Amino acid sequence: MNKDIITVTSPLLPDLNDFHAELQKIWDSKWITNNGAFHKQLELALAEYLGVPYVSLFTNGTLPLITALQALRITGEVITTPYSFVATTHALWWNGIKPVFVDIDPATGNIDPDKIEAAITPRTTAIMPVHVYGKPCDTSRIQEIANKYGLKVIYDAAHAFGVKVNGESILNAGDMSTLSFHATKVYNTIEGGAMVMHDERTKQRIDYLKNFGFENETTIMGPGINSKMDEVRAAYGLLTLKQVDDAIEARHQVAIAYRKALRDVEGITFFDDMPGVRHNYSYFPIFVDANKYGMTRDDLYFKMKAANVLGRRYFYPLISEFSTYRGLESAKPENLPQAHNMANSVICLPMHHALTEEDIQRTIECIMK
Ligand SMILES: *Cc1c(COP(=O)(O)O)cnc(C)c1O
Repeated sequence: MNKDIITVTSPLLPDLNDFHAELQKIWDSKWITNNGAFHKQLELALAEYLGVPYVSLFTNGTLPLITALQALRITGEVITTPYSFVATTHALWWNGIKPVFVDIDPATGNIDPDKIEAAITPRTTAIMPVHVYGKPCDTSRIQEIANKYGLKVIYDAAHAFGVKVNGESILNAGDMSTLSFHATKVYNTIEGGAMVMHDERTKQRIDYLKNFGFENETTIMGPGINSKMDEVRAAYGLLTLKQVDDAIEARHQVAIAYRKALRDVEGITFFDDMPGVRHNYSYFPIFVDANKYGMTRDDLYFKMKAANVLGRRYFYPLISEFSTYRGLESAKPENLPQAHNMANSVICLPMHHALTEEDIQRTIECIMK
């Protein structure tokens, strides 16, 4: 019997009638983009929800990365992680910046602060870490290094929506953080994203830059781009924001069930919650030790697939393995042993707010036997 497909993620959708009522308001106003009422309201609502001073909305999560690098006039070399979604490094490439890959800490999957200093050269201008799977980077260590060498820090926080450390938003770390509101993320606006910044002047500059650099009708403050979010998706985002806490709690329950069932499975490991951290349970990666488990990661991945349980090998291959980047000195596998280990052993299990008890059981059974 062919069982239903269990997908790795599922979008958090607003109630269609609620959305329709909001659409009616947009139709009545005839203001469909360019910093309209819903756009303004969502920026304020997100700043409040996330616990950050300023938010600037974007049309996706890649453009705020590209724009942050432009706004801070980053050039030369930037230190980053190979263990991420490819957009992180692409944003550097689109700015003509050379990415310098540093290995990860296997305890978190994040860039290893102990390895950053050795990668700094006279051309280094910034560090671009990623809070991978929403697990907080060691932001104070990274900031210390940045201060010592006069570097900027831009966090790709695409996975870290709503993550807090000791009650403080992780998005307040560094010079700027960027978010993705893509359909596959914990919080979505279909496509969408944002930048988080600390001061009003930067917020103003970013708001100009995302609208071609227009400061007013006749003044262009710099070479801007068009990466604005429209009113339809802002209205959608106001509705999904109301649902996101329940969705995170539902994900938390899935994580509890997975951990309980898989804790004693020989050769399978996973991350536990970190003390003092409000996690968002955006992903549930497991790591397969083929010798102990008796099956390789890929064999388990394809076995799950055959049972219609669609895990994903996030993040495999590493960014440093893609043709654009593999020729770089820092992309050599000898430089990145921990990242290679993780990329070769990971499967992200299905993780979303709408998984049923039965879905969770079917996923667990694939791994247990
Ligand atoms: C999703 C994601 C992005 C890109 O976001 P889009 O909204 O899809 O452009 C960037 N970085 C990371 C780590 C991501 O997971």
